[in-house]
Amino acid sequence: MPGIILFGIDVETAGENAKGFAQFGAELFHSLQTPVTWYVTGQTLERYPEAFRVAEASGMVDLQAHTYGHLLLKSVLMKNPATHYVHGETEWYFQAGGAFDAIEWDLAHCQEVFRQVLGREALGLCGPWGYYRGLGDRPDLLELVHRLGFRILRTFLRNEWDAQPVPLDWQPYAYDLQGFPDLLELLAHGYQDDFYWRAFTRPAEGERYADFLTTMVERVAAEDLTWSLCSHDHNCATLEGFEQKGQWYREVIRYAGDLGVRFLTASEYHQQRLPLAAAKG
Ligand SMILES: [Zn+2]
Repeated sequence: MPGIILFGIDVETAGENAKGFAQFGAELFHSLQTPVTWYVTGQTLERYPEAFRVAEASGMVDLQAHTYGHLLLKSVLMKNPATHYVHGETEWYFQAGGAFDAIEWDLAHCQEVFRQVLGREALGLCGPWGYYRGLGDRPDLLELVHRLGFRILRTFLRNEWDAQPVPLDWQPYAYDLQGFPDLLELLAHGYQDDFYWRAFTRPAEGERYADFLTTMVERVAAEDLTWSLCSHDHNCATLEGFEQKGQWYREVIRYAGDLGVRFLTASEYHQQRLPLAAAKG
């Protein structure tokens, strides 16, 4: 079987962009019959409950959590590329993570919003900004997210410089070593989105993000890898804005389909990897 893509999108803006994405995104993934996971902030979900219920009812969208208020679970301490600044104007960039008590309140409240809007809790959690090693060096947070019902994490979204890209060699794993064998880490590979690819690589004129993505698909197919691919709802309030992303979404989906690479939602992948844990909910 030549590889798997876990396409996951952060829907986090809690405004017109999120509302537009809920409509245009659901239409695109339904029209291509491609399963996708949306990591939605609790604030976004409670602002547009009906739009997201409709998106999930389309059959292709798996709704999971991106915290309630986009609170960082860990600090990001990023080394900028040698040639230019991506964040800040110094060699190193620091963005503080939330305090434990604030994270506990945020995640519990996020699950409450999921229960109110969708009648269920989220199984998956994407950590805002993403971190090197995911939550592997934070057993206190692993215990917390496990206690709150999360069984799928997408928190490992940065390399050893807390930067980009994340290599495909690092494949999804369970947190066995820390005592949580039923808690799966998906990571996110490459760059977190088209804007991050541009910010880190400073592409020459004519270079396209879609071309980078097709080289990733080729490696996934050739080596039977799992690729966790990330995007966002930014600038998606209008169809015109959405299509800036929609064009490369279609291109990567069609190219992957031609090579026989399968798309799975986070829930489907979790069931495949850890069927007993999934059955227990
Ligand atoms: Zn985010």
